[in-house]
Amino acid sequence: MTATIIDGKAFAANVREKVASHVARLKEENGITPGLAVVLVGEDPASQVYVRNKGKQTVECGMQSFEHKLPADTPEADLLALVAQLNADPAVHGILVQLPLPDHMNADAVINAIDPAKDVDGFHISNVGLLGTGQKSMVPCTPLGCLMMLRDVHGSLSGMNAVVIGRSNIVGKPMAQLLLGESCTVTIAHSRTKDLADVVRRADIVVAAVGRPQMVPGDWIKPGATVIDVGINRIDAPEKGEGKTRLVGDCDYDSCAEVAGAITPVPGGVGPMTIACLLANTVTAACRANGLAEPEGLTA
Ligand code: NAP
Repeated sequence: MTATIIDGKAFAANVREKVASHVARLKEENGITPGLAVVLVGEDPASQVYVRNKGKQTVECGMQSFEHKLPADTPEADLLALVAQLNADPAVHGILVQLPLPDHMNADAVINAIDPAKDVDGFHISNVGLLGTGQKSMVPCTPLGCLMMLRDVHGSLSGMNAVVIGRSNIVGKPMAQLLLGESCTVTIAHSRTKDLADVVRRADIVVAAVGRPQMVPGDWIKPGATVIDVGINRIDAPEKGEGKTRLVGDCDYDSCAEVAGAITPVPGGVGPMTIACLLANTVTAACRANGLAEPEGLTA
């Protein structure tokens, strides 16, 4: 079998189109322009790229983008004061504090200071609790993107065996909650899991969020299973020339694609969906803040 490739780039473009058309309607019918504030502390190069891309795509969808760049040695109290200011600003519907934060800051305290209704990353403990109890919440962007693609492939996920490899708060755990919400039978695997290969072989759906390049080989995959590869790892690529690198996922793409029914590539799979879902969450937050109907298909 050769797997269907799940084109995350095209999927994300489609999500952004839906967001843009909903934004246009909100502006025209309600005079509301959704606004996303992104806060970056320090000069981590990867974070700077993410923040730039987020700002660009926010504006392209017709929303307002507010960027706040603070020096790495900013006192935590100053960041908390900025969060409080953004919480109170009616033009701001979504707030994202780019992680990681410098070591002298308590990331949990900062995230939990964000108004949960504006917490478009879905990391606030209230949103974690709401998701865990099956209530309406802001859903973390990366798992939300994975869920959208899985729904697109399968329609109903009810009764399927899902294995999530990784138990981080930003990917693994919320992914497992979402799959449980879809009535999958969910196993969460991690670094202490015994016989991981056997656990994965039982899965109709495998979501790999580990951060170890090409860790999952094709012979762990049940024939026809759907493989969602969240991992983004940079490895040496001498075939491209001296000193060159390339991105790979947590799954060994070539061998997994020979066995799976559907698979996300890296790059071009889950990655582009994350920002698209951030934009989707911002529109959802703007609608909820104004008591308006939410766009369909843009949240869990
Ligand atoms: P993380 O916080 O480092 O968590 C990694 C998880 O993998 C942990 O739960 C760890 O288990 C587990 N793990 C480590 N080694 C393992 C092994 N040998 N077998 C089984 N499980 C193992 O990472 P994360 O933030 O969730 O990110 C995971 C990957 O996704 C990274 O490559 C990251 O770059 C990527 N990512 C991509 C996006 C995107 O937009 N596409 C977004 C976020 C993250 P323990 O808990 O036992 O240590």
